[in-house]
Amino acid sequence: MVNPSVNPSVHPSVNLFDLSSRRILITGSNGGIGLSIAQGLAQHGAQVILNGRDAAKLEAAAQSLRQNGLEVETSRFDVTNETEVDTAIAELLETGPIDVLVNNAGIQRRVSLEQVTLETWNEVLTTNLTSAMLVSRPVARHMIARGQGKIINICSLMSGLGRATTGPYTAAKGGLKMLTQAMCADWAKHNLQINAIGPGYFETEMTAPLVADEKFNAWVCGRTPANRWGKPQELVGAAVFLASNASNFVNGQILYVDGGMFAVL
Ligand code: NDP
Repeated sequence: MVNPSVNPSVHPSVNLFDLSSRRILITGSNGGIGLSIAQGLAQHGAQVILNGRDAAKLEAAAQSLRQNGLEVETSRFDVTNETEVDTAIAELLETGPIDVLVNNAGIQRRVSLEQVTLETWNEVLTTNLTSAMLVSRPVARHMIARGQGKIINICSLMSGLGRATTGPYTAAKGGLKMLTQAMCADWAKHNLQINAIGPGYFETEMTAPLVADEKFNAWVCGRTPANRWGKPQELVGAAVFLASNASNFVNGQILYVDGGMFAVL
């Protein structure tokens, strides 16, 4: 039974998108899409916690946001390492609640399925899928005890579509879509909202080889109804929506932000 005093959806809010009292952990946010989402959430008033494995990159990312007057903490851990995750989350919870978790950390290894090694398969599955369970588990226990919380999983077009040479990634992102729905099944009754964002093709370090590949670049621009790559800051609107009271009755969904690619053959 949800306590109405902690369920903001029963109280008309002046600004449904206000994030000013929210502390948000974004995994894999020392660069790329994660850092853009973190910056955007912080610009909407959130206190953000950046994460990644590379400590120097993490500190540089935090400094870049602090220089703009944004409130930033850092937490260095590997999302695939159960002990590191549990220790880091426990430490973060000693200094305050986690209101929103964004499971963003991910990797891509392009290889066809008849060539893939078990090591690569496991690396991609563990980083893109198992990690979301590992990080969400201790965070959700805390959110369930509070009677509120939001989790946003960063999926992909490959959560619903296949593409040659992305087998491990497609299996992982398809699994992440279903994990989003499974989390909804287990946790929605505790007033947790678990949703996903499905980015189309965005220019980041991960996609740099594709942007540089003339043929692939032309394919992306031709195949995307908007005729271009996305800019990471264009994911901020969806993240603000899913992190805020505006989405309090939205659960188990993927919001595609892809210039129309998933909608059109
Ligand atoms: P980047 O390679 O630019 O960034 C990946 C981030 O994840 C880095 O901050 C990296 O930091 C972190 N990371 C990787 N492995 C781990 C780990 N084991 N533990 C903690 N952090 C880790 O990728 P993008 O920004 O492009 O991608 C971000 C997310 O968006 C991914 O989930 C990706 O699948 C998804 N996505 C991206 C698309 C795109 O077009 N770019 C399209 C659709 C989805 P560090 O190396 O320091 O650990």
